[in-house]
Amino acid sequence: MTTKQARWKCPQCGAGILAPTKPRMDDVRRYCLPCSGKTGRLVERIAPALEAKREQAVAKRREKAHHKRQVARRRANTPRVQAHRTYSREGEHGMPLKKECARLWKMLAKMPPTLHGARRAISTVTNSKPPRIQLMERGWRVNSEGELFINSGYAGLAHMGRGLITVKPNVSWGTLAHEIIHMAGYQFHDADFYEALKWLTERRFKTRIDFSTVTRYGYAVDWLIRSQIRDLVKAEFSTDNRATPIPQDVSTNEHEGNTQ
Ligand SMILES: [Zn+2]
Ligand SMILES: [Zn+2]
Repeated sequence: MTTKQARWKCPQCGAGILAPTKPRMDDVRRYCLPCSGKTGRLVERIAPALEAKREQAVAKRREKAHHKRQVARRRANTPRVQAHRTYSREGEHGMPLKKECARLWKMLAKMPPTLHGARRAISTVTNSKPPRIQLMERGWRVNSEGELFINSGYAGLAHMGRGLITVKPNVSWGTLAHEIIHMAGYQFHDADFYEALKWLTERRFKTRIDFSTVTRYGYAVDWLIRSQIRDLVKAEFSTDNRATPIPQDVSTNEHEGNTQ
């Protein structure tokens, strides 16, 4: 077997020799002994061809990484991804999902224990983190303009025991709250469930919900609640508390300062 050879040159005297491309650290051919003897320190020979090769490799790697970043940037900005980025962080009127979820979760810990079913829910809430929120992707699509189309079906699902809620894009406050009540341990759409949802809604929007027309519990009650808070929800989220949809669009707060 022949080892690959390269020309090694002393940077001080310029004398060169032929030696393997990867000499061992203690190989004398690595060093120019006359110059080392003169200076008292080991003078290392360098292989110009190898140096050039190494530089080329570095440049190539750099180029490749640059190209990769460019492609990733392009892919990260399709209308679909843009819409996904926005809608996975926001519900209706720009409601910040994560923040609202955490807020409602914290609120549930303050339910009056006398409220039926509350005692167990409070311990569930105080002993676990707010549910994570995941965007339901099946059943929705975005066109090339970035407009969103939602198909019918569940608007939200609570994965009890997994600490996870899946919601459709642009989910309503009512649906988010509904799923959070499930996560607090209310499994069925019964009186307990809707009493808890009523309490949470009233506390969140500092209002009263009228249940006088309720004859049986089920999704109709969700619609009843929703109809009574529609304007409050809109007012709460549509202006001041609006989350910025896309990170790079974050604008600085505009203070009207120094008017004097
Ligand atoms: Zn030398
Ligand atoms: Zn439900």
